[in-house]
Amino acid sequence: MSSKIFKAIWIAAITVFLASLLLIMGTLYNYFSSLQRNQLRNQTELAAQGVAMSGMDYLDELSIENYRITWVSPDGNVLFDNEADTASMQNHLERPEIQQALKEGFGESTRHSYTLADQQYYAAKRLPDGSVFRMSIAQLSVWSLLFGFAQPICFVILVALILSFVLASRIAKKIVKPINEIDLEHPNQYYGQEDYKEIEPLLHHISAQQAQLRQDQEEIEKAALIRQEFSANVSHELKTPLHAISGYAELLKNGLVKEEDIKPFAEKIHTESLRMTKLIEDIIDLTKLDSGGVDMKWEDCDLYRIAENAVDSLEAAASAMDISIDIGGESAPVKAIPQLLYSIAYNLCDNAIKYNHTGGNVIVTVAQKEHSTVLSVKDTGIGIPETDQKRIFERFYRVDKSRSKEVGGTGLGLSIVKHAVMIHNGRIEVKSAVGEGSEFIVTIPNKPKQILSEEEPEYYA
Ligand code: ADP
Repeated sequence: MSSKIFKAIWIAAITVFLASLLLIMGTLYNYFSSLQRNQLRNQTELAAQGVAMSGMDYLDELSIENYRITWVSPDGNVLFDNEADTASMQNHLERPEIQQALKEGFGESTRHSYTLADQQYYAAKRLPDGSVFRMSIAQLSVWSLLFGFAQPICFVILVALILSFVLASRIAKKIVKPINEIDLEHPNQYYGQEDYKEIEPLLHHISAQQAQLRQDQEEIEKAALIRQEFSANVSHELKTPLHAISGYAELLKNGLVKEEDIKPFAEKIHTESLRMTKLIEDIIDLTKLDSGGVDMKWEDCDLYRIAENAVDSLEAAASAMDISIDIGGESAPVKAIPQLLYSIAYNLCDNAIKYNHTGGNVIVTVAQKEHSTVLSVKDTGIGIPETDQKRIFERFYRVDKSRSKEVGGTGLGLSIVKHAVMIHNGRIEVKSAVGEGSEFIVTIPNKPKQILSEEEPEYYA
């Protein structure tokens, strides 16, 4: 990174320097060219006076280096030329500077000389006798200018190269140093600092990513802890019935059970194995729900019909406890996962019966709203203390462990219900008072993936 910045700065510096050099050379070239022309004009004026006064004698004695001197008669014949043979020279009357001098007294032009190959400046002066005195000089070429300045230019280029090299490497290091020194764990500490002003958006970005990483890490740890707790709970919950089963079985095997106790022992084994089966079924359900219900099919179904099926299958259990269970409401078509809706209704009704008093009742109601469908399961049971109401949805949480076990609970029913509701983007509330009863209210959006608005009217049975 540092070498990239260095290269960029160095190239920029050298480019600016070369551009400046070119501009300066251009300006110098213009300056020297106009100086040369002015000199030619002055020399021509001066020498013309000498020729006017002394004629050819003056020219013979005149020796000016680099200048070509020509004297042309009024009819254009060359009388004198210091660089070419006059006899072989053409008539000069058509030369623009001579034409201009004849007309206006003084004339000048720039062109390739017909006789000499260079680009020439010409200045011509008409003399009192009508002849024209002309001087010319080879125009300064860019190359001759460059050649003349070669030494200082080379020196300046060398100094500029060294200087820009040193400066570029220093600037590059200065830019990169604070970036390399950033403490990625705590980027906030650099906010507002002079060296970090330009990269503050980067610091904010790093900071946000750090926060996200920390949050992700916390979530991963939390999930791992929950998994760990869950596995520990599962093994514990499975161990209890398994121990009971093996204990009873061992007694039976060893013939230590009296004839009349064999039946109750077999019944206990049966009950415990049913409890284990229920526990394993619930764990399987919960594991499926943990994957978000991805392989479950959303279908057009009727929550009322589904709740009715759940009530029907629990009717016998309810009447065994002398509890009445009734369903009311209306057909409620909804796009949902039917087996999950059944699981919700079944578990809530099952609890409403299990945690009820003899002679109590359970009322199930289904109502359809504009955007959602509401299922209420209300009982006249033992109720749930307020402090426990939030925790009952946790896995294996029971208000009264022994009562739950007594009625064949696994502590997973409400976790399954909550998960199933969440997969439908729904909401579950509980209203309960100890000794009076409980009501569980589930609200499911009518369309999949629809988010329930806060204002969605609450349902009261
Ligand atoms: P369980 O298998 O023990 O019933 P759940 O997850 O279904 O497990 O319920 C958790 C706990 O919440 C139960 O053990 C019980 O204490 C309490 N609970 C659930 N439903 C009711 C209800 N309708 N009335 C009173 N208590 C309830």
